[in-house]
Formats: sequence, C-alpha cells, structure tokens
Amino acid sequence: MIEIKNLHATVDGKEILKGINLTIRPGEVHAIMGPNGSGKSTLSYVLAGREGYEITKGSVEYFGQDLLAMEPEERAGAGVFLAFQYPVEIPGVANTTFLKSALNAIRKQRGEQELDAMQFLKLVREKTKALNMTDEMLKRAVNVGFSGGEKKRNETLQMAVLQPKFAILDETDSGLDIDALKIVAEGVNALRSPERAMLVITHYQRLLDYIVPDYVHVLAHGKIQRSGGKELALELEKNGYAEFGVNEAA
Ligand code: ADP
Ligand code: MG
Ligand code: MG
Repeated sequence: MIEIKNLHATVDGKEILKGINLTIRPGEVHAIMGPNGSGKSTLSYVLAGREGYEITKGSVEYFGQDLLAMEPEERAGAGVFLAFQYPVEIPGVANTTFLKSALNAIRKQRGEQELDAMQFLKLVREKTKALNMTDEMLKRAVNVGFSGGEKKRNETLQMAVLQPKFAILDETDSGLDIDALKIVAEGVNALRSPERAMLVITHYQRLLDYIVPDYVHVLAHGKIQRSGGKELALELEKNGYAEFGVNEAA
C-alpha cells in the first residue's frame, strides 16, 4: 500500500528526516514511537502533503503512485487521512456541515456524486450510533470547547465517515488522559480492516496497550532506528530511548 524509500525532508533548510524506509501493507497497523523532536510529526505532514516541507531525497509510493507528486486534496481523495495532532477549532461551522463538505470534497476528487443533505444525515447517524455517540456533538461548532476526549471521539467519527484507506494518527506528546487514549484506541480498533492500513504515531507506550500494533518502529535522529513487534513498545517503556542516544530527561 505504501512504500517509503530513503525519504529525506527539510524544514527551513534544516534536515529533519534523514532516510526513512517503511513499507505498510493493507490491513496492518504500524506504530511509530520516538522521543520529542525526532521527526514524527514531520513524517505525518510530509505524507499528508502539508506545505513547508521540502523533500530532498527518496520516494513514497502509494498503491504504486508517486504520493509526493499528488496535491493534498488528491491524497485525501485517494484515501489518505491525517488526524491532526492539534485538532483545529472552527467557530461558527457546525461539525456536521464540516464533515459533509469534507466527505463531498473527497467524493468529488473520486468522480463520485456528492451526497445530498438527507443521504449524508442518514450516513452520519449510522456512524454516530455505531460509535455510541450522541447527535449533540454534530450540531456543535467543530472542536470548539470540546474536551480532549470529545476531540478524539470526533476524530474517530471523521475517520468513520471518510473511510480512509491509509489513516495517520499523530498523537500529542502530552495532555491526553487515559480516557482519551482509550477513545483513540477504540477508534483505531473499530476501523481495523483488511483493506485499511493505519500509522499510529505516539510518544506513549501506554496507547499501545490498547491498540496492539502489528509493527512498532522507533524513530530517532530522523531515521527508523529499530523495528519490531509489539514487544518493542514494552521494551521502550522499560528502557526509554537511551539506547538510541537520547536522554529524555535532559
Ligand atoms: P516530533 O513530532 O517527533 O516531536 P517534529 O517532527 O515535530 O518532532 O519536529 C522535528 C524537528 O523539526 C524538531 O527539532 C523541530 O524543532 C523541528 N521543526 C519542526 N517544524 C519546524 C519548523 N516549522 N521550523 C523549524 N523547525 C521545525
Ligand atoms: Mg513533538
Ligand atoms: Mg509530534
């Protein structure tokens, strides 16, 4: 599904990614862990196509296509989804309105007919029900005044409505309580499917107690330093990132 080869990227002339290699197949859940400032968010932004990142070397193939040559909207249309580390608040725009236009933008990219208000309402009601959510959150302005947990639920709803093929979840390094972590995990687990791959980026070993990824990778100094199964997360919990030349306490 996605093949990242020797990816180098710079921000403001500073090299952040220094040769990332990663292959993800449909159905797999990969976790990337790493110390603060190691380039985790940079990787997710580069994959989603955010402005301000220069790719200086390497390639990313997505279903055999050159992902890096695609506009961000094309990537979204092709099923790439990035859950934002800091969810944007959009005052004055109802959550349901936002979701509908996001879904229809994706459908348009794909040459599919847009859903009308009735069709969309039916879909979104199905999804909220399946996620044990109330309609109340749909009427509120996007993320405005949402608690950390509500933002995470909303992210899950976005994924459930948009049905991405490749979802990237970049989790904040702080401020997520255990309930919010559980919500993230529920969302990821609910969307696991043989056709869908997920990249979960986290600083928290604890999140992986609930998600149980197929693979864990350690990103440090702009490179994947080690890859392994879920046991690697447990090892990191015990030993930290010292073995990768990083002292988190410093
Ligand atoms: P992580 O998500 O692993 O904490 P980031 O990808 O956010 O790491 O950041 C990696 C490095 O890139 C850090 O040293 C950070 O200071 C730097 N960086 C990120 N964004 C910018 C930017 N816009 N301008 C300059 N440096 C940046
Ligand atoms: Mg960070
Ligand atoms: Mg980050």
